[in-house]
Amino acid sequence: MALSDLNPVERNDEGIAAVLGILKQRLGERFQTGQAIRSQHAHTTTYIPTQAPDGVAFPETTAEVQEIVRACATYRVPVIAFGVGSSLEGHTNAPGGGISVDTSRMNRILAVNPQDLDCTVEPGVTREDLNRHLRDTGLFFPIDPGANASLGGMAATRASGTNAVRYGTMRENVLSLTAVMADGETVTTGKRAKKSSAGYDLTRLLVGSEGTLGIITSLTLKLQGIPQAISGGVCPFPSVEAACNTVIATIQMGIPVARIELVNALQMRAMKNYSKLDYPESPCLFVEFHGSDAGVAEQAETFGMIAEENGGGPFLWTSVAEERTKLWKARHDAYWSSLTLRPGAKGLSTDVCVPISRFAECVTETEADISKMGLIAPIVGHAGDGNFHVLVLMDVNDPKEIALSEKFVARLNMRAIAMDGTCTGEHGIGQGKIGFLRHELGHGVDIMRTIKQALDPLDIMNPGKILPSVGH
Ligand SMILES: Cc1cc2nc3c(=O)[nH]c(=O)nc-3n(C[C@H](O)[C@H](O)[C@H](O)COP(=O)(O)OP(=O)(O)OC[C@H]3O[C@@H](n4cnc5c(N)ncnc54)[C@H](O)[C@@H]3O)c2cc1C
Repeated sequence: MALSDLNPVERNDEGIAAVLGILKQRLGERFQTGQAIRSQHAHTTTYIPTQAPDGVAFPETTAEVQEIVRACATYRVPVIAFGVGSSLEGHTNAPGGGISVDTSRMNRILAVNPQDLDCTVEPGVTREDLNRHLRDTGLFFPIDPGANASLGGMAATRASGTNAVRYGTMRENVLSLTAVMADGETVTTGKRAKKSSAGYDLTRLLVGSEGTLGIITSLTLKLQGIPQAISGGVCPFPSVEAACNTVIATIQMGIPVARIELVNALQMRAMKNYSKLDYPESPCLFVEFHGSDAGVAEQAETFGMIAEENGGGPFLWTSVAEERTKLWKARHDAYWSSLTLRPGAKGLSTDVCVPISRFAECVTETEADISKMGLIAPIVGHAGDGNFHVLVLMDVNDPKEIALSEKFVARLNMRAIAMDGTCTGEHGIGQGKIGFLRHELGHGVDIMRTIKQALDPLDIMNPGKILPSVGH
């Protein structure tokens, strides 16, 4: 079944024409309808077909976002929020056309409160922009998806990254936010207090809602102090299973590891060539510890011993910033390096996540499946969270290969769900994973649909995403 059949969106040509006229007049050059810019604002990162919006608006204020949403509500036209477009599941596609709301001009850092370890930003600020801004404060924002994503997009997808094992995901790091809802009204979901028991948790309802409930126009985020000392390194293993068992033991022993990433042998080959890393072409763990000088040394020693007990090593670690930066740059570039394993191919990135005790089993079964199905598909993962990515490299002009890859992904998603895990640890549902939501959450899908209908009765906020249509 085609992705669009799981939640089809009807096109409203008359309404779209009316809104195009209104927004052109209201925003002038900040409203674009050229083919190239419309395509850039649809899904471009994977093989999922591009479905372009009819126009792209570049608002600068919350009031302008309200105006856009109100015009779209009046004429029942879809509104699709857009950060930098790095999402991987067709999130920014416009299956029924409509207006893309690009937040890149809403890129002000509104406040940094070092005493409280928090800041308030507009949604178009990217994670790297924020960390550059914070550099002299001794603080940093830890959530680090591989792309330099916008903080609005990261909140909307409940993103995470290599640091999540220590600092949590966007779910734990957004204190409150302001959003324009489907009727054009704004809501601010909380204050700056670190915790609150004040009623329903609207912050967490909007975090992960993928633009289907409202458009985030500002976010208050938790910040962390830059640790006094950081140590890290790479540890090779004779097998993926040995590497995974080391991760499980490290987490179960409560070692406060800041990053622990699995890289399988094929991915290591890609990284060695692309990022010029000098490590063996075998499964490896990339590890980092944060704390005091003595603390990070002790953690590194203990981790080295666990690795050795599992047949791994030597664990070569360093506190030298440049060496660590090279390693983590290579890790963040893993997606791009893996594409070099099959020039011309497109990638399909999965992101299942399982309870840590099932991690080794899930990864080894998946590696066996890759080999049985004859796919080229390296593995890299946020192992400490039980989360890993398989990047299936495929020829998108070959329908048989697409079908085979989709079959593999379906088996992987169902394997993770059967292990009490999830089909998506961090990328979200978008269009690509709609078919797995009911398998994972059952009746929860109907509750979600009730919430969606209550808050967006005209179904204008990013329609065709997350929820399957009735009957699926
Ligand atoms: C190389 C690479 C590596 C990646 N690694 C990771 C990783 O390690 N961890 C991870 O979690 N993800 C990862 N991703 C996926 C992606 O970076 C994240 O999903 C990211 O959070 C998307 O942010 P964005 O600004 O690109 O959002 P977009 O792609 O522009 O939008 C994503 C979704 O959020 C909605 N949205 C955007 N802005 C707003 C807003 N202001 N209000 C409401 N809704 C909004 C959109 O409508 C859409 O549904 C990776 C992607 C790539 C290409």
